[in-house]
This record gives sequence, C-alpha cells and structure tokens, in this order.
Amino acid sequence: MKTKLILIMTLIATASMANPLLSKYKTPYGTIPFNQIDIKHYFPAFEEAMKINKKEVDVIINNKQKPTFQNTIVALEKAGSLLNQVASPFYNLLGSETNDELQKIAEQISPLMSEHSNAIRLNDKLFARVKAVYDMRDKLKLSVEEARLLQKTYDGFADNGANLSDADKEIYRELSKEMSMLTLQFGQNVLKETNKWTLLVKDKNLLAGLPQDVLDMLALNAKNAGKEGWLLNLKATTYGPFMQYAENRDLRRELYLAYNTRSMNGGEYDNREIIKKIVNNRLKVANLLGHKSYADQVLVHRMAENKDNVYKLLNDLLAAYKPYAEKDYAEVQAYADSKGAYFKVQPWDWSFYSDKLKEEKYAVNDELLKPYFELENVKKGVFGLATKLYGLQFVKNEKIQVYHPEVDVYEVKDKDGKLLSILYTDFHPRDGKRPGAWMSEFKGQWIEKGKDSRPHITIVMNFTRPTETKPALLTFDELTTFLHEFGHALHGMLTECTYESLSGTSVYRDFVELPSQIMENWASEKEFLDGFAVHYQTGEKIPVELINKIKASENFNAAYGCLRQLSFGYLDMNWHTLESEFTGDVILKEKEAMNLTQILPVVNETGMSPAFSHIFAGGYAAGYYSYKWAEVLDADAYSVFAENGIFDSKTATSFMENILKKGGTEHPMTLYKRFRGQEPTIKALLKRNGIL
Ligand SMILES: [Zn+2]
Repeated sequence: MKTKLILIMTLIATASMANPLLSKYKTPYGTIPFNQIDIKHYFPAFEEAMKINKKEVDVIINNKQKPTFQNTIVALEKAGSLLNQVASPFYNLLGSETNDELQKIAEQISPLMSEHSNAIRLNDKLFARVKAVYDMRDKLKLSVEEARLLQKTYDGFADNGANLSDADKEIYRELSKEMSMLTLQFGQNVLKETNKWTLLVKDKNLLAGLPQDVLDMLALNAKNAGKEGWLLNLKATTYGPFMQYAENRDLRRELYLAYNTRSMNGGEYDNREIIKKIVNNRLKVANLLGHKSYADQVLVHRMAENKDNVYKLLNDLLAAYKPYAEKDYAEVQAYADSKGAYFKVQPWDWSFYSDKLKEEKYAVNDELLKPYFELENVKKGVFGLATKLYGLQFVKNEKIQVYHPEVDVYEVKDKDGKLLSILYTDFHPRDGKRPGAWMSEFKGQWIEKGKDSRPHITIVMNFTRPTETKPALLTFDELTTFLHEFGHALHGMLTECTYESLSGTSVYRDFVELPSQIMENWASEKEFLDGFAVHYQTGEKIPVELINKIKASENFNAAYGCLRQLSFGYLDMNWHTLESEFTGDVILKEKEAMNLTQILPVVNETGMSPAFSHIFAGGYAAGYYSYKWAEVLDADAYSVFAENGIFDSKTATSFMENILKKGGTEHPMTLYKRFRGQEPTIKALLKRNGIL
C-alpha cells in the first residue's frame, strides 16, 4: 500500500519534472520559464491539461449538493487553470515567435481544443446546474460582479442553443456547421479572386508616376511569374500605391474595376449566392434563439445594446459630416481641375488627387519626424505618461526569462511601490512574428481567498529596427500604435477584479478600444511631445510647426473618411437587421443601403458586399459600427482631459478607478457614465475633426 503510493507520487513528480508546463512555476512572480520549455512539451501538456480540465468539470456535474453560485459558477470559472497555463505561452508564441514545428502542433491541437470546449459548452447536465443557479438569481443576493459572472456563464451556454428542444438543437447544430463552411468559403473566394487577376505591363511609360520602389516590386512580381515587364495585381501592397501614384487614368480605372468587382463575376468564386445563404442562415439562428434579427442577437452583448442606438450613431454622424464630406470632394475636384483634369473625379481618381493635395497642403512626411522619435526616447515618453497619469513605475527585471533576447521585461508598480503587473515588450519585426501590433496576456488577473493574483501583460510590435549607424527611429504612425497598444496594456495591468473572465480587457467589443484609442490623443499634444521628442543627434525639441502640421493633416478629408466608414456600417446593418428571408439582388440591395452615404459618383457595375470579408468571413457582423462607436467614446472621454489638463491627476484617477480597473464587472455604459457624468455625445469627435 505504502510502496504503491510512493510509486504514484514519483510518477507524478517525474511527469511534471519532465514537463515544466504542467508544474507550478518556481520563477520570479510565477512568470513563464521560457528557458525550460521545449517545443516537444506542448502537445503532451495540452493532452494532460485537457484531461484534468475534464475531470474538474465532472466534479462539478457529479456534485451531490444542490447547485449554488459557488459550487457551480465559481467552480466552473476556476476550472481549466492548468489548461490556460499551457495554452498561454503556446498561443502567444504562435504569434510572436513561431516556426513550422509550432504551427504543426497548432494544427493538431486546434481540433482537439474545439472538441474539448464543445464537450463542456454543450454538456446538458452542466447546463442544467448553471440554469438552476441562474433561475434563482433574484434570491441569491449576488454582488454586481457576481451577477455579471452568472449572466456571462449562462449566456455562454444559452447563446449556443442550450435552451433549445432536442429537435431545435439538431437544427441549430446543422446551421452552425453550414455557417462555418459558408464563411470559410466566402473568405477563400475573395482570396482566390484577388490572386487570380494580374495584368502584365510591357511599356514602362504606362507606369509613369510610380515611385522606384513600387516599380521594383512590380518588376519582381513579373520575374517571379516568369515574365518580363511589370506585373500588376490586386494585393494591397500593389493596389494601394498604384491607385495613389499611377498617372495613367485608364489603367487606374481598369485596376479599380477589377478590385471592386471581385467575387461578383459569375463563375466559381462568386459570393453573391453565398451572401444570401449567410444572412438567411444567421437570421434563422437568431430566430431560433428568440431574436427578431441577427443584429438583435449580437447587440445584446454590446455597449450599444440595440439597433436603434446603432442607427442613432450612424444617422447623427451622417447628418453632421455629410456637408463637410461634400466639401472635401469639391476641394479635391478643384485641385484636379487645377492640374488639368477635364472630368468629374471618379473613385479611381480619388486617391491619386487627394493624396497629392494632402502632400501639397501639409508636407509632413515620415522622414521629417523620425529623428525626433527615437525608440528609447519614445519609451521614456510613453512610460512617463503612465507615471504622470496613474503614478506607475517601470523597473526593468533582467532575471525574468524571455522567449527572445530582444524582449524586455518590467515590473510595473503603483505609486506606493506595490507590484501591479509584469510587462513584456517586443518591438521589432522578425521571421516568425506575424505583422501588425497587439497586446496580449501571459497570465490574467483574479482575486482568490483575498489574494490578488496580478497579471502578466505583453505588447508586441513590428517597429523599424535600429541599423549599425542609426538607432530605431519611429514614424508618427508607430508612435501612435505604441500608445494604442500601451492603452490596452494599461487596461490589462491596472485591472482589479475578482474573476478572471471579467477582468482586464474582457469587456464588450464596442468598449474594448476606448482605453487604447484614448491614448492616441496624446500623440499630437505639444506638452506630451516636449517631454521626450528630441532630435536624436542634436537634442533639439520637436518644432511646434511640425506638431501643428501633424494635427492639421490628421483632419485632411476626415469627413469623407467618416462617410466611407458609415457606408460600411450601414451596409453591415442592412444585411443583419433583416427580419425575413432575403431572395433579392445582392448588389441592388447594397446600393440602396449605401445611397445616403455616397459622396463619389456611383459606379453601377461594382459592389462591396461580395468581398466584405469583415462581416461575411470575420467577426464584424452587426459590429462594423463599433469602429465609429469607439471613436466617439475616445474623443468624448479625452475631452475631459483636454478640458482639465492633459496630465490632470483627478481626471486620470477617475478614468483609472471607473474604467481601467473595472474590466467587464459592470455594464460599460454604467462605468462610462460614472467617469463622464453622462452618456457620450458625438460633439467632441466633431470638434476634433474640425466639424462644428
Ligand atoms: Zn486596439
């Protein structure tokens, strides 16, 4: 008996010793022991952690006691912590330091993981317990945060059809299966149509206006295809610069028409029938779950709450910006005329003339600004902003292990020196890092038995590298990106919640960009820039004229840009507020929806929907409005800083206490009103854009 026990204990010990992912980390602050983790550890660790997670859930289901908030909702919240521990380094590295081996494991793991989470989410017995607690929620005297956890847990099941009859569950499952095929096919069709089209140009004169690097790229395109000349295609890297620089109007038109008729030409990659299937399928699902339309279903879990509020936003912005957008158009037309254009400016002329006009008016280019944005200085500026606003201190800790030598780690402390968070920063591009910039976490935050377990946050960028002769000099866009991701990081680092699934950035999708976008406002403030933006060679402060130019250029064609975003928002709502089956003409319906926002001449043969992957293949269905929603929020919130002083500590403290610390523990509108004293209005955004 005794021997056996020892044997089992030794076995467990060796298993966890062999696989560091499965044991408690004995590192500073329990940070991930990257140096001990080998790629071969992941797969067995995932398998083991899923097994343990399943056991944890079984314990909840088989509990002989009646379901309570503690033994069911909290127990479910706590289940899966080992699985999180395994998944967190894995999925983070998949984005920031990947390789073929890691990707192969991901391919093996993702079906297993979705099977695993489905087995939990679709478990009737588990849902019965959750529902039992939910049904007596009014008698439980739960705190606001507990009530939100209960609601979120319950919704996680109910939104996946847990309340349906067996027959309806079968229909729901069929619809979901069909849906994932349709959205996948939609995206693939767009990709294939984008890749299918090419145009070989043999006469260099036709390419007048293109900068040398674009010409080089086109020549390389041709060479790679075994051809001679310059090969045009519809990829963003070619299409954008071509429309901006190419002087040949016929070619611009040809490219524009090719781009804007993707997946609507008949043939195998046509998406028009798929769109009908997708919107009708989504409507059926929404009806099954008791909603009038798909938008109604989605918006329940958004700050906007319902479609009336979304339409109010779109309509208010439309009314305010449209006259100014028409002015933007007239200005570009006048400019084109002054350059000898004897025609009405068409969509394929827009970028060509408006970008030239912008250059003439503001002439701020990256090269002028970059010497003032040396990365080390920018870091001081951005961290320093968090010190000024929230009293945060950043102390580098070189003992904490990293996944790449370029990664730095900081202990982030509050004004009293108490540890708030660990922060990893990873600034430069590498093979194995995906493009873009993002914030993520290696470990979340929660409070257990009175002990606050603090988060480990990471921000990952792809900023200009230093060279042998020059330090890393950032563009203005990169500075803004840094502030943006750092804003998400603050949301993650300052959080003070009891339950991990409500903490940090776990908030509604149309609220999550407030903490990030608000930070971008500081980027063009003289008071902020003066603190760090000095010329890396001369030490001279960034000149005030440059700052003013940045500010002015930010508003160039802002109204036109707004109308464009609104047109996508209306189009999205148009497809997802349908309350009956759609059988009509996709393009006709689209033109109706976009009619009011049209500034450039309508081109009848083109369409947007057949290539609108955001809403038909991505996660933005009934959510495209949220780009504008978040902008309204960040401008409105920042106006308080602008009024009280951009470093005003009282305003900052209120933003921290009411927004940054609270995660998703209360409805975002409640949190926002506590900070702002009222609901947001579009006024501040209008002011920022020079429209009033
Ligand atoms: Zn963001």
